[in-house]
Amino acid sequence: MRRTLMRTIQLHIRSSLPSNFHPLWDLARNVWWSWNSSAINLFRRINPQEYEASGPCPLKLLNTLPSSTWESLKEDNGFLEHLNEVYKEFLDYLETGINKVTEYKNTNTIAYFSMEFGLHESIPLYSGGLGVLSGDHLKTASDLSLPMVGVGLFYSEGYFRQSLNKEGWQLENYDTNDPFYLPMQLLVESSNKPILVDVEIARTKIYFQIWKLNVGRIPLYLMDTNVPENSPENKLITSRLYSGGQELRIQQEIILGIGGTKALQKIQINPAVFHLNEGHSAFLTLERISQFIKKGLNWQEALIAIKGTQVFTVHTPVPAGNDAFPVQMLSHYMGDLYKNYGIPDNEFYNLGRSPENHSEFSMPIFALRTSGHRNGVSQLHKKVSKKIWKPLWPNLLDNEVPINGITNGVHTRTWLCNELVELFDFYLGKGWDAKLNESLIWKRVENIPNTEIWNMHMTRKSRLLSSISKSNLDPEYLTIGFARRFASYKRGNLIFRDIERLKKLMQNKDRPIQLIISGKSHPADNLGKEIIQSVVQSIQKENLNSNILFLENYDMQIAHKLVRGIDVWLNTPIRPLEASATSGMKVAMNGGLNFSILDGWWDEAYQPDLGWSIGSREMIANEKLRDDRDSQSLYDTLEYEIIPLYYSNKVPNEWIEKMKKSISILTPRFSANRMLMDYINKSYLPAAKFHEKWSIHSSEQIEELKNHINNVQKLREQWNQIEVTRAELKPADTVSVGETVTLQVEILSPFPEEWIEVNLVLANTENNNSYIMNKDIIMPCVEKESGKKYIYVSELETTNPEIRTYTIRVCPNPSLFPEHLDLNLVAR
Ligand SMILES: *Cc1c(COP(=O)(O)O)cnc(C)c1O
Repeated sequence: MRRTLMRTIQLHIRSSLPSNFHPLWDLARNVWWSWNSSAINLFRRINPQEYEASGPCPLKLLNTLPSSTWESLKEDNGFLEHLNEVYKEFLDYLETGINKVTEYKNTNTIAYFSMEFGLHESIPLYSGGLGVLSGDHLKTASDLSLPMVGVGLFYSEGYFRQSLNKEGWQLENYDTNDPFYLPMQLLVESSNKPILVDVEIARTKIYFQIWKLNVGRIPLYLMDTNVPENSPENKLITSRLYSGGQELRIQQEIILGIGGTKALQKIQINPAVFHLNEGHSAFLTLERISQFIKKGLNWQEALIAIKGTQVFTVHTPVPAGNDAFPVQMLSHYMGDLYKNYGIPDNEFYNLGRSPENHSEFSMPIFALRTSGHRNGVSQLHKKVSKKIWKPLWPNLLDNEVPINGITNGVHTRTWLCNELVELFDFYLGKGWDAKLNESLIWKRVENIPNTEIWNMHMTRKSRLLSSISKSNLDPEYLTIGFARRFASYKRGNLIFRDIERLKKLMQNKDRPIQLIISGKSHPADNLGKEIIQSVVQSIQKENLNSNILFLENYDMQIAHKLVRGIDVWLNTPIRPLEASATSGMKVAMNGGLNFSILDGWWDEAYQPDLGWSIGSREMIANEKLRDDRDSQSLYDTLEYEIIPLYYSNKVPNEWIEKMKKSISILTPRFSANRMLMDYINKSYLPAAKFHEKWSIHSSEQIEELKNHINNVQKLREQWNQIEVTRAELKPADTVSVGETVTLQVEILSPFPEEWIEVNLVLANTENNNSYIMNKDIIMPCVEKESGKKYIYVSELETTNPEIRTYTIRVCPNPSLFPEHLDLNLVAR
């Protein structure tokens, strides 16, 4: 039974600042301050202790300092000057960002949906990597002046705060976030009442209000069900991130996807492109379909219209990381929401059913089937995703499965330490952050004198170690960092596998090493909690307290300190289960060196002159053998390579060369700038083009869309009639280097010539289901013979002696059918 609550009223009193200090409010109400050192220094200058104590959270700082502070600051002329300078920088930024992507039109708004956003430690709307990625995505979109809006949920209690009990078991506590101190405003009607939107969940109307949080130039809209119109229970739907069971999760995902889409419509934002970061928001598809049905399409037509404008990023190859709901449960919460629009329940459920399991509705499968642009988050993850999701496109080969690889990146200004910002300003030239994709600029890192880099690094390391209370770690010692979610596939305990060897390495008198560990485990993941416990207990039992430290409550603040202060960053996932990982990228740009399994981003980034690998790319099925080998490799590399290099000299020049190489090569390549440019070129531009062609609402466009859908239908019905009837090499199939060979192909096809495309694919048929696509040649049609017979011809050059295997592939022409391979229509 819920107790009757006493009626309480809260009164919030804002500070009253002298009028020429008012720009401080604008600065505090935009997260821009958090990635600009001049703004950070400004707020710190007000009162350094109170600044830190506030979170740091400028809005809290401004609202908690006594009025006398402002009186005394008035006397400080320099402060006002500093303020005006920062304010001007801020206004200029709002005007233009850092650099503009001219290819992308301002009118094609991109709506970016995510369950979590990690913007700053004082804004607890994230749990880990996924959220920090979303935050970095928005910040970078702002830098690039992209027309983007973020959509998420407002969690009044955020994610849990971790502490460990004496036995090393994780305890979870929730703090209440007071919106008064968060840089966001409630959207209100002209009458000053909050704008309310509603969604039907399990046949009950659920209301929510909308907060707007400013991320530089980008607005982030957050849905919040904590409104008086809801029952006490429903008020709590959005109170916590990743807490509670599936029933709560499904309701949150309905609010995020369906509610978020309705909210955008309500506030008159009409995005051209919808980006689903993870499958959590995939229900948005339903709301979008219903909006198109209102314009006169039927539901299949509407599905095609929205699909071309949807971008889906899949994030994990680990099944437990994917949401799947029993169809029964889904049916309960959806009620008849979309029946009136003529979306038949069963056909909707079919879109989310996997070929193997019909009783479950999988969010990523639903998102893959309803988004025309899909990507994994590293090149290795692309390959793995193609394999995992191949059953959805049974007629394609692994390599043809239409999933791109867009490797994650990090927001440089957020993660780079001030000391390096200054060194870059000096040695690379101011404005380097507008040139993140110019590798020549980055070569200049090599001009930074070794001692300068080293002193900078040692200062950062000392600061890290002295900021940790209870720490008696020594900044002169080689210091390794390991911080990430404790999920079993990340093997947080791999380095403890041979505890005697580890101890010997760590406690070597001349060349000791230190390890800092941090990380939470998902509240429902007992296996993960057991790993934390075993780690903490090993430290105690083996008397490793002066070498190993476990930092409780891993969050962006701890991440900030660690990635800027450690020497070596360790990552030990089971390959290939780490889709990307990003913390190693943050480390690299700050001069730390990566030491990791060849998984995720490191699989494509690793070179011996940038850092170290653990284990090999070989897949070992036997778990014990695999972990033995990986840990062996870990210890060997530490003992024979890493430790000797670090201790080679007081100023270890070879080590520093590695640092510089790693900074100069990895910073631009794994920046969120590069990531956003990839999204623009591979997904946003094609999606916006689709939108311009078919999603704007003139009756001609609707006619054209219907016509297109008819053609797709014809393709599907008659595709079986396509046949490759002849393929001939002339003059012969054996020639000498330098001779030109002509390939002639005859195709039987019931379609007009321009409907199909014939590709010549250079194949390496190692096994039946995969080939290495070196280059596709599009063969021109030279002749239409009688009836349905078409002749295609290409000339092939021969430059080297070799044996080549080609495959001839017929597929729908992508310039007429942007769905292309997605249609799962291929003839060979
Ligand atoms: C960057 C970051 C992550 C990402 O961690 P990976 O394990 O590298 O994916 C997680 N949590 C926080 C707080 C971060 O800042």
